[in-house]
Amino acid sequence: MSAMTAVELRSDQVGAVVATLVSMFGIPDHGNLNDPLDELVYIILSQMTTHHSYRRVFERLKATYPSWFDVLNAGPDALRRSIADAGLSKQKAPRIIAILRTLQRDFGEPSLETIRTLCDSEAERYLLSLPGVGLKTARCVMMYSLGRRVLPVDTHLARIARRMGWVEGGLSPAAMHSSLDAVVPPHQRFALHVNAISLGRTFCIASIPRCGACPVANYCEMGEAHKGMRPTNGRTLHRKTKRPGPKSLAVGKPMRVPDISASELSSSDHEAASLRPLIQMRRTAIPLGAEAYVASQAR
Ligand code: SF4
Repeated sequence: MSAMTAVELRSDQVGAVVATLVSMFGIPDHGNLNDPLDELVYIILSQMTTHHSYRRVFERLKATYPSWFDVLNAGPDALRRSIADAGLSKQKAPRIIAILRTLQRDFGEPSLETIRTLCDSEAERYLLSLPGVGLKTARCVMMYSLGRRVLPVDTHLARIARRMGWVEGGLSPAAMHSSLDAVVPPHQRFALHVNAISLGRTFCIASIPRCGACPVANYCEMGEAHKGMRPTNGRTLHRKTKRPGPKSLAVGKPMRVPDISASELSSSDHEAASLRPLIQMRRTAIPLGAEAYVASQAR
């Protein structure tokens, strides 16, 4: 048998990591939406704020303005007041209004339903043409709302991929996306993306990764390097946690997540304290983008 390439080796590792994370977190529901325009606005609101905050603001926005026509007619000042709690409202409100105006011009209504008929590359190109929409946002819409097997690389996945040794540091967003496209098979992309968010909020925290308790430390360059080390504040965070192996995969029956007190989480990571609500938030039905992953495990 020929020697495996570096990409094949990393793809193998990605598969084991995804299986381990699914056995721990299941297929987490981060509140994403089936309507592509709802999802696009939801992702814009999520930038630079906590998920509790942007979910609350999105729900209030939908209650105040039942349709995107209503938001368009209300204009940027009224929208800015409605979304003020989500932060950066002076930037987010004009961007949302500019997107709604573009959709009105292109499709005769503020809706993204038409892009369901486009192929992946056409849908991505159109979304990227909208004001202020980047690759991660475009791919979130495609993955969550259109069920496409694309991989959005958000801050959690980018950090985890660097620490794992899957990609180099210092890559541009475009280079990061194409590097991970090469090593993450299409059927594993949804499961990796949603689980990287859960891992990044619980163990692979930006400021102090909790490698000693991390379920995927055996597959991780930084985790291997940190074995037996104490964190810089002198408080040992390592604990004896039985790590689930890929063979324990059981989609829909997540393992109990180790209990972590808020004091053990980094106060600088404002999303870390949201561990409990996040873990409790699971869909009862399998979301669209997860079907390929679950089907591959059933074979
Ligand atoms: S072992 Fe450490 S660096 Fe690696 S994924 Fe886990 S928490 Fe992150």
